[in-house]
Amino acid sequence: MRAILTAALCALLTASTLPPALAADEEKPITQAQAQEFEVWKRNFRAEALGQGIAPQIYDDAFRGVTLNPKVIRLDGRQPEFSRPIWKYLESAVSPTRVSTGREKLATKGQVMAEIERRYGVDRQVVLGIWGLESNFGSFYGNNNVIRSLATLAYDGRREKFAKEQLIAALRILQRGDIAAEDMKGSWAGAMGHTQFIPTSFEAYAVDFDGDGRRDIWADDAHDALASAANYLARHGWKYGQPAYAFVRLPQGIEYFELNAKNKRPASHWASKGITLMNGAPVPDYGDAAVVLPAGARGPALMTFHNFGVIRKYNNATSYALGVANLGERIMGAPPLSLIWPEDDRPLGRTERKTLQEQLTALGFDTDGVDGILGPNSRKAIRNFQRSRGLPADGYASEKLLTRVSQAMAGNEPLSRAQIGYIQSALGARGFDAGVPDGLAGPRTRAAIAAFQQSVGYPADGLPSVALLRALGG
Ligand code: CA
Repeated sequence: MRAILTAALCALLTASTLPPALAADEEKPITQAQAQEFEVWKRNFRAEALGQGIAPQIYDDAFRGVTLNPKVIRLDGRQPEFSRPIWKYLESAVSPTRVSTGREKLATKGQVMAEIERRYGVDRQVVLGIWGLESNFGSFYGNNNVIRSLATLAYDGRREKFAKEQLIAALRILQRGDIAAEDMKGSWAGAMGHTQFIPTSFEAYAVDFDGDGRRDIWADDAHDALASAANYLARHGWKYGQPAYAFVRLPQGIEYFELNAKNKRPASHWASKGITLMNGAPVPDYGDAAVVLPAGARGPALMTFHNFGVIRKYNNATSYALGVANLGERIMGAPPLSLIWPEDDRPLGRTERKTLQEQLTALGFDTDGVDGILGPNSRKAIRNFQRSRGLPADGYASEKLLTRVSQAMAGNEPLSRAQIGYIQSALGARGFDAGVPDGLAGPRTRAAIAAFQQSVGYPADGLPSVALLRALGG
């Protein structure tokens, strides 16, 4: 729904550690030249807005006293270095506090939630999940003047077209009388109210649930906002009573290439591959589903159903959709998920992702560019590298993967079991007892390696290596 992140989502996604250059919370002050330029911009944009049907009075009221917002300029230019692992995201998104606040809201708003559910055919739990993640149930939706934020973005130029379109929509909302200019509050990027709608989404999906003639997604009671979120999901095809996801168990030897968000297949297909629910029961049939590994092959496997895709229309991230769906379930009384995440293998930051792309490309696994963004070409390159090394081809760009790729670059990759088995046999044939050639470098094998190294005058570290393999004719 939004091309940009809401304040709440940014706070959740962005790690607290930023590189020193970006760590300062202080804004670069607006220069006098910028301020003057902005006044000219405002006059020029006035003509544009009037040309699109905005009344002069509306424009002048909305822009009275509006100056550039240096915070918006800073945040818009920011490129976060670190990405937050999904398990950390979920810890915060579905924290005990958020769950208990959600339960209180459900208790006090049960009747209105039931009415919204009936009217829009959208389960109350997903509406609560969205409310909880977008604005922490209305306790935080950004205190920025939306006109000022969007005007700053439009002037700043990086997303001029988007910001201008949103600004015109915001002015139309004011003109229609849904909200007064001074009460139109939102995130630094212009996402508004309890549900963090950008103005064009507001125009398309906001509803006047309480019938007072205004679509007020800022009101304390949140009734219009909750109904608007439900309407958004309904219009994107929410199927009542269906879950969004299930965690599943993968059989040994599953083809990891198949496990990605784009590969949507019927339940029968996944069942035929030996995939089951965690308790061994057959996977349920909610139409075509994908199986994804949000933290790679060492993390949980997630089956995503139709409704998962509907939540992603709200915010296009697996972690977000899982957070919304699970928060909703927890609010309704479900126990916490018990999942084992690979916490020793974090996802890569931006600079590391670039290094990964450079090295993969140098190794002949073309990522089609080095931009720090892992699109389909990079994922494919990762999977091909993994496959070439006999690793699970999950396409997950983690710290361990980068280490492995860097070792490949430096020519000191760890040996495979077959290669270690060869070393064991070759040592045995030379009278060094390395035990059964099982491909595992245990104490006996390491002692045999050390003895061999000593006998030929190598440093006796007892470790299997490519050099050792070569020395033994492998
Ligand atoms: Ca209303």
